[in-house]
Amino acid sequence: MTNQAVLEATDKAGAGDTPQFEVVVLGSGVSGIYQIKRLADLGVNAVVLSADAGLGGTWFNNRYPGARFDSESYTYGYSFSKELLDEWHWKERFSSQPENLKYLEFVADKFDLRKYMRFNHTIESMTFDEAHNLWRLRVKESDDEITARVVITCLGLLSVPTKPRYQGMDTFTGQSFHTFDWPHEPIDLAGKRVGVIGTGATAIQVIADIASKVGHLTVFQRRPNWAAPLSNGPISDEEMADIRRRYDEIFETCARTPGGFEHEPDRRGFYTLSKEERIKFWDSLYGQPGFAVWLRNFSEIFVDEEANAEFSEYIANRIRERVKDPKVAEKLVPRDHGFGVQRVPMETRYYEVYNQDNVELVDISETPIEEIVPAGIRTSEKTIELDVIVYATGFDAITGAFDHIDITGTGGQKLRDKWYDGPSTYLGAFVHGFPNLVMVAGPQSASASVNFPRSIETAVNFVTDFYAHVRERGYQRFEATAEAEERWTAHVQKMYGSMLMRKAKSWFTGYNSNVEGHEAGKVRYFVYNGGQPKFNERLAKVVENNYDGITCS
Ligand code: NAP
Repeated sequence: MTNQAVLEATDKAGAGDTPQFEVVVLGSGVSGIYQIKRLADLGVNAVVLSADAGLGGTWFNNRYPGARFDSESYTYGYSFSKELLDEWHWKERFSSQPENLKYLEFVADKFDLRKYMRFNHTIESMTFDEAHNLWRLRVKESDDEITARVVITCLGLLSVPTKPRYQGMDTFTGQSFHTFDWPHEPIDLAGKRVGVIGTGATAIQVIADIASKVGHLTVFQRRPNWAAPLSNGPISDEEMADIRRRYDEIFETCARTPGGFEHEPDRRGFYTLSKEERIKFWDSLYGQPGFAVWLRNFSEIFVDEEANAEFSEYIANRIRERVKDPKVAEKLVPRDHGFGVQRVPMETRYYEVYNQDNVELVDISETPIEEIVPAGIRTSEKTIELDVIVYATGFDAITGAFDHIDITGTGGQKLRDKWYDGPSTYLGAFVHGFPNLVMVAGPQSASASVNFPRSIETAVNFVTDFYAHVRERGYQRFEATAEAEERWTAHVQKMYGSMLMRKAKSWFTGYNSNVEGHEAGKVRYFVYNGGQPKFNERLAKVVENNYDGITCS
């Protein structure tokens, strides 16, 4: 029987104690696509359920102008197929959203994966049926119940957009949307008065892209970020041929570096060089493509206040050089955190935007937004009339996608209650009390702090091998032990202790002013900060020890 026929047959035969599917994969983004590929290769009866109308996850949804990789494109693509690597030509060093979506569609078509995918399937709830060791999933768009022995979540790190809670948001008479929901049909911004709220990585891409296309742009900034040049450029046929020849070497380097990039930290030691030597080194880094300025830097930048302050001042001076009005330049220099302790937005002529006559920076830490009015945005100082409001206000990161599903484990326990003060997991993949549930790129995995596809390939391989182990032995149920989960969570938490990022108000520490309970104050230990190689070593050890920490029956 073909897999499609299996899907149809099991769909019909799904009632009762036998689950319809061996595995349900939630999400059709970068990780969901690779996960279903591996399951299909194993001959597993699996389906992908996606809330979206098409595949691609992040790259399906985020269609705002300027959306592009900040990973080198050829390090972002999948590495699992030599044929795929030979066939795909990356056109830009940091490829843009339309091309990235085309790439993921190309992958799905090449490996005939669409047949496993069901779109517009938003999971509202899933409950573990302890008597039958299966999950029962409820879909928002229909009355269907879907049952599966195992659920693998590929929900993404940043898939639940969050808007501010200003009064009057629904009274605005112009167009308004979150960047994640930027309309799929192109919108003409020529001559329009546009307001962008936020100055994170997304806003910085949008602002730089639209500033010269709109009539007038107002940027509403609460806290500035440290940004640095992306230095994008085309990839010629000759370069691409060279990249193809070097793919093995490129992926080996990515596997060796903490961030899963080609960038390796400078290991000479910050204090072994004089200040002049350090500045010379930084001059050579600034403007190198991608995250070089962050990840090829001295590792002291991440852990040592003094080293971080010196480098932050270096970057502040770069901002001052690029922005003509000194008052505006000072507003763009972050005061509450040092360089690189939050995710660094990469930019293309972002700072120069503020030299344009049609761009105004409104510092809402001084003159807060009081409400959204029909004509625009009213701050404590004035009303700014607008045709379009863009909310570039970030995401309910990492745990948000889980909190949005009513997940019930053993003994009626809700995952969102268990994680109310912050997640606890085993290896970022398993949760005690939630049997037969596996997370790819879950909380406390390495994925958020690593070039995403590099880490999810490892994660998907680990999860698939684990599932093959379970399947071969005929196990009906598996679950992380409480002790293993406690140990891992304590390990993740301990690592935050040495990092300056623990003090930053960012999604890495669980901060989001628009999500109740996630306002500043309480650190959530969301991310494994030990880097990809150490994380991989951990996973390999667990496999070697016959999946210790997980009970199977
Ligand atoms: P973000 O980093 O969380 O930034 C959100 C911005 O909105 C911040 O400037 C924040 O200000 C502001 N904001 C939030 N709520 C607000 C409110 N109520 N009033 C005023 N301002 C408000 O979100 P993001 O920019 O979407 O980026 C999230 C992550 O997505 C990035 O860190 C990155 O990992 C990823 N990303 C990647 C790329 C890429 O190139 N591959 C591009 C874009 C994004 P405060 O700081 O004051 O809270």
